[in-house]
Amino acid sequence: MAVPKKRTPKSKTGMRRSHHGRTSMSLSTCPSCKSPVQSHTACATCGTYRGRSVISVTKKAEKVEEKRKDKARKSQA
Ligand SMILES: [Zn+2]
Repeated sequence: MAVPKKRTPKSKTGMRRSHHGRTSMSLSTCPSCKSPVQSHTACATCGTYRGRSVISVTKKAEKVEEKRKDKARKSQA
């Protein structure tokens, strides 16, 4: 196995990691409900993407509620 001859100095490590910083997510506003949305993603609040309804928000809410009830039932048993 190859073994490094010298240990990497802290400064070199820092130089390498200078590009590792994370940037904040860029958010735009939904044209139909004005809530913040990630670009190229359907709006989670109203379920629209580029003016069309792509997610049934009410159906999704029902599903989430069902899941929560299932979890509560499992924890009781
Ligand atoms: Zn929206």
